[in-house]
Amino acid sequence: LLSEDGSLGVTIFEEMTTLAMQTGAINLGQGFPDEDGPEEMKAAAQEAITAGANQYAPGKGILELREAVSAHQERFYGLRPDPLNEVVVTTGATEAIAASLLAFIQPGDEVLTFEPFYDSYGAIIGLAGGVHVTAPLLAPGFMPDLDRLEAAFGPRTKVVMLNNPHNPAGAVFPRPVLERIVELAEKHDALIVSDEVYEHLTFGVPHIPVATLPGAADRTITISSAGKTFSFTGWKIGWLSGPEHLVAAIRTVKQFLSYSSGTPFQAAVARGLALPDDFYTGIAATLQRKRDILADGLRAAGLGVYLPQGTYFINVDTAPLGISDAVELARRLPGLVGVAAIPVPVFCHPEGAERTRSLLRFAFCKKEDVLVEAASRLATLR
Ligand code: GLN
Repeated sequence: LLSEDGSLGVTIFEEMTTLAMQTGAINLGQGFPDEDGPEEMKAAAQEAITAGANQYAPGKGILELREAVSAHQERFYGLRPDPLNEVVVTTGATEAIAASLLAFIQPGDEVLTFEPFYDSYGAIIGLAGGVHVTAPLLAPGFMPDLDRLEAAFGPRTKVVMLNNPHNPAGAVFPRPVLERIVELAEKHDALIVSDEVYEHLTFGVPHIPVATLPGAADRTITISSAGKTFSFTGWKIGWLSGPEHLVAAIRTVKQFLSYSSGTPFQAAVARGLALPDDFYTGIAATLQRKRDILADGLRAAGLGVYLPQGTYFINVDTAPLGISDAVELARRLPGLVGVAAIPVPVFCHPEGAERTRSLLRFAFCKKEDVLVEAASRLATLR
């Protein structure tokens, strides 16, 4: 991610989406759905604009959305963050991640992430002057190696940056793994920043917010986003919750990143968070069907498929096709067969990049016929 001179380059998502547009390829690279979310949420945004909700929202977010975030957490997880001072609305989960890490990290502090790691973690740790330490997730299940995890903690560990369900690996961490993470965070007095943007996108396994574990709530910030749950990635509405003293520090930083976030979209997201349970089970069921269609197609194309338990990403091993360098393949793939994907090594430091060298990530949040067509194009790689 960081170029060799330490400067921040163009993100892999931008690079691959540009390439897909230039070549007319099917874009299974950057994760965004090709169908919009609920009509009633679009109507709610339009109504809010018409009603004049067009000036700055409060820095914390509109009260209606903070209350909706809290009620949603109570309904699904039994948590009830105080909407007045334990919830903040952000400009996407991206800003929640940035504001949290910038609030907690002093130069030289260590931040532990699981590798492969979502690209913005590495960039923000770098901007904050932190030291980025990683613990590997190992194929085929992409669960943490618990010995390596313990060894990655040390006296300078300030934050564990958790991502569950995990992008790009598609893993959903079970309770014992989360318990071990909390135990280690307690032992080393580290904070937990938990990016749970795919909380509702799991397939037959429960999502367990780390903040629900004994001992975790006091040291955990939980992050989510309307982009994933409601398929409105362009609205850039996210939120975070946690104990008041941590949330206050993050809010201080947020003031100087964006000050506040898109007012009319906040009202619409509040409406979405109140949708009945069957909306939430419906999105997971629809995505599971898409996952299975793409997985079948990728297997038929001769790729080694790692079936994800969550998110909308599938990782494949290209080694069975005799390909060893996924980065090089991803750059050629749109021109070669008309499909764009993301190489997994870009989410890694050098050792992890070596371990994931032949892995590609495909997004399956697309119409079923698009997934079938993409798989049949990939079959020509053989
Ligand atoms: N989160 C999306 C992905 O992983 C992309 C978001 C972005 O482009 N920054 O593909």
